[in-house]
Amino acid sequence: MLILNKKTKEELITYFKSKIPYEACGLLASEKNNGINIFYPIPNISSYPKKHFKFDPQIYIQSLHDIENKNLHLIGVIHSHPTTNAFPSKMDVDHWHYPDLSYWIYSLPDDQLNAFFIQNQQVIILNWAKG
Ligand SMILES: [Zn+2]
Repeated sequence: MLILNKKTKEELITYFKSKIPYEACGLLASEKNNGINIFYPIPNISSYPKKHFKFDPQIYIQSLHDIENKNLHLIGVIHSHPTTNAFPSKMDVDHWHYPDLSYWIYSLPDDQLNAFFIQNQQVIILNWAKG
């Protein structure tokens, strides 16, 4: 079961709220096996930022290097839905090519956070708990 640190959850919700009306995104990482406790915000450079997200490639690479340098574990990718529910859109499913990396969506209107695996266009809901 995936564990998400309570403070990290608050931090990412605050960040997502600050980016309304746009989608916001980032990476989730953990130290050792203590659950997810680090959020890396990454600027959304999508041309349609209200409906989709695209990582700023430079900040994305920097974040991955930081994760590696600090011996952290990359656990997943997260983005917000400013107007829709916490399920992957068709575009989300079509653009996701990492079947083993968890995919998190936070819905601002529903105040709901869900985690998934997306494998061969199939969306699988993952259990997670606040830690
Ligand atoms: Zn989405």
